[in-house]
Amino acid sequence: MSMDNAGAAIAMDNALAVARAALKRAPMFDGHNDLPWVIRADARARGDVRAYDLRRVREGADTDIPRLREGLVGGQFWAAFQPTNAPHPARTTLEQIDLIRDIEGAYPDVFLPARRAADFDRAKREGKIASFIAVEGGVGLENSLSPLRIWHAAGVRLVTLCHNETLDWVDSATDAPRNGGLNAFGRAVIGEMNRLGIVVDLAHTSHEAMRKVLAVTAAPVALTHCNSFSLCDHPRNAPDDVLKTLKGNGGVVMATFVPGFISQPLRDWLRSGRDAYGKAPPAADPKAQMAELESAHGAAPKATLNEVVDHIERLVALAGIHHVGIGSDYFGGAAPVGLENVSRFPHLIAELVRRGFSERDLERLSALNMLSVLSRVEAVGKRLRKTRPPAVGRIEDYPGA
Ligand SMILES: [Zn+2]
Repeated sequence: MSMDNAGAAIAMDNALAVARAALKRAPMFDGHNDLPWVIRADARARGDVRAYDLRRVREGADTDIPRLREGLVGGQFWAAFQPTNAPHPARTTLEQIDLIRDIEGAYPDVFLPARRAADFDRAKREGKIASFIAVEGGVGLENSLSPLRIWHAAGVRLVTLCHNETLDWVDSATDAPRNGGLNAFGRAVIGEMNRLGIVVDLAHTSHEAMRKVLAVTAAPVALTHCNSFSLCDHPRNAPDDVLKTLKGNGGVVMATFVPGFISQPLRDWLRSGRDAYGKAPPAADPKAQMAELESAHGAAPKATLNEVVDHIERLVALAGIHHVGIGSDYFGGAAPVGLENVSRFPHLIAELVRRGFSERDLERLSALNMLSVLSRVEAVGKRLRKTRPPAVGRIEDYPGA
């Protein structure tokens, strides 16, 4: 090894040491993980948290307790997710919220049920991981405002408005628009979330819906798993004008690890197997489709850790250092090279160290920015509840919706 190589190797180890030290001060607060759906879909566990056994390292999966510890994760938004077309959406949402509460209940020495921003620091002091509940997909409202209050009472503190399909009140990034972004009932949903102190999550909404929500929300928003559209033109990513608006709104965009949202070459490679909105056709057999694409275009380009950091730099350039975080979207599927599972967060932070981010900036990206959104959303809710009664009604009560 030459002197230069030896120096580089020491510098690399040093970057990882700096990253780990930053994460000890401000542990990773990840904006999105789909473990609850993985546990529900697991053929053996079928939604039984204890049968799935999170204390065991599972090769081939991406999230378990030993690797959350190794990854220095201190806070996690777990997604109570369901596909838009799943039967019984209201019931399924409740089952998924219950599953997350059961993760908290099954491992009380590991997870602290977190319902306020301050619980993040409390968990840190107790050596635990703050467990926050998010609902992914407003389909479970079944076009009524009342379930929002029940979700809040059950501990939900963030709602991703939709998933891959447009709902009756909000347009999805990956489906045909029907609401001009957000309609009158959609505005009522935002207003009630503001009043309750639930974070509005714009991941998955159309760009127009993002703009409409940003124009009406009384509180900061989050985009919990989104990259930069100008670096990779998948419709799930956020356009420059929306990212610039985050500064005034006080919100946060959280860089995500979904390979097709990271790498433009991979996005281009996948394009012929996707519809006009970047989505795989519903009936497609993913394996057969990949084989077909490979025979037509050669091996798929791989997304990498370094490209995720390119997105973080771009998001910081547009939204500002106070408005960027990390939302992995680990879901038991494909992940970028270098970010295969939840133990890898320190390696992501280490690359930010190499690119010259200050220690304070690393703490902002890993946790402080999302925490500031949470506490500001809490404060806005507290203020609104003093003067505004609960919003009642269903979609038919909102003319024009
Ligand atoms: Zn998602």
